[in-house]
Amino acid sequence: MRVPQTIAIDGQSAAGKSTLGALLAEALGYLYFDTGVMYRALALAALRAGIDPDDEAALSELAHQLVIDVTQPTVADGRQYTVLVNGEDVTWAIRSPEVERIVSRAARFPSVRREMVRQQQLIGQRGRVVMVGRDIGTVVMPDADLKIYLQASLAERARRRAAELRSRNIDMPLEQIAAALAERDALDAHVSQPAADAIILVNDGLTPAEEVALVLNRFVYSEQALENGH
Ligand code: C5P
Repeated sequence: MRVPQTIAIDGQSAAGKSTLGALLAEALGYLYFDTGVMYRALALAALRAGIDPDDEAALSELAHQLVIDVTQPTVADGRQYTVLVNGEDVTWAIRSPEVERIVSRAARFPSVRREMVRQQQLIGQRGRVVMVGRDIGTVVMPDADLKIYLQASLAERARRRAAELRSRNIDMPLEQIAAALAERDALDAHVSQPAADAIILVNDGLTPAEEVALVLNRFVYSEQALENGH
């Protein structure tokens, strides 16, 4: 049996992609790479530089200039990894509501995406990777050995995002969170389609431990995966 070497996890905001991705990568000893970090880093840099999130030329130039690095956690404050942009630790800054408000607008431009995808493909080529995003199974790693598309209801995703924000002492009404998620869903719809060969996994009501066990047993260490040529 050949265990998948490249795993793509896609899905909408707060569908649980990073939770599953990080657990799978840990179980397999693979690199975990969250591509949303790159678009968020770009949005943060644009905010700071006063660049309009509708200015494709300026954003594209910025995307080419930024040196985004994701490393093992450098601080034990609950982070999954440390994000450095031009050497500065922006791990939490890229999670701010201000960044969330503009990230999908900045991410919609083809010239911006081309540069992001190019960098992501370099990481994917090394193999032994769990890559998480929206277009990983369709664009970044169309030949990934295993593709999972996560789905959860808007209500469940809003509850998860609220809990995550609360753990960082950010209090936001549930309705406001749900509205922001729905808005991002609409803006991201053009890149958030499941690949034709993706496994659709609805995870409402599954704990992270149950979910990772299911994926490992059914799709990573299974005869079925072997039969499918994975
Ligand atoms: O996954 P996360 O919420 O961190 O992603 C932030 C935003 O970055 C998404 O809402 C989407 O607009 C953009 N994104 C993308 N393609 C990816 C990953 C993220 O367009 N592969």
